[in-house]
Amino acid sequence: SNDYRVVVFGAGGVGKSSLVLRFVKGTFRESYIPTIEDTYRQVISCDKSICTLQITDTTGSHQFPAMQRLSISKGHAFILVYSITSRQSLEELKPIYEQVCQIKGEVETCPIMLVGNKCDETSAREVETSDGEATSRKWKCAFMETSAKTNHNVKELFQELLNLEKRR
Ligand code: GDP
Ligand code: MG
Repeated sequence: SNDYRVVVFGAGGVGKSSLVLRFVKGTFRESYIPTIEDTYRQVISCDKSICTLQITDTTGSHQFPAMQRLSISKGHAFILVYSITSRQSLEELKPIYEQVCQIKGEVETCPIMLVGNKCDETSAREVETSDGEATSRKWKCAFMETSAKTNHNVKELFQELLNLEKRR
């Protein structure tokens, strides 16, 4: 099928909803966007056909465990978001990553993108690009820095995730 379910995880405030809304609606808000769990559909071209991305924006790393397990089992690909302004937010991804591995088995068969968002906030940076890269090597996943605010790498993020899915 040409339907891909992408699930976005990460601590509260890292910009999960902002990335999703930037991608599907082209908008950005300076304020916090309260989320329960929302799913958005977006048609995207891949190879010479079109695919439908079904993007689930979760509440964060502390959502209900049963809901988190269900999101993982239903997902085809995962975006794990931290903020480059918070080392803590990168550390909070570890249990989520481990749960994805546990539920999906081999990580090689399941596209994961580690994303360092808010890369526009250069003066508040706590996580170096090289630290993000090192984590992605350890986790055998892809890596990208983005900004939902400036729209840096946002389209590329979803496109690349689809490319990873196509290549497996
Ligand atoms: P979520 O809890 O992970 O869904 O985070 P939100 O999308 O609600 O964003 C939390 C806050 O970070 C909001 O005030 C956003 O405006 C801000 N934010 C999100 N993405 C960026 C970004 O790329 N750069 C900057 N500077 N702020 C951002
Ligand atoms: Mg949110």
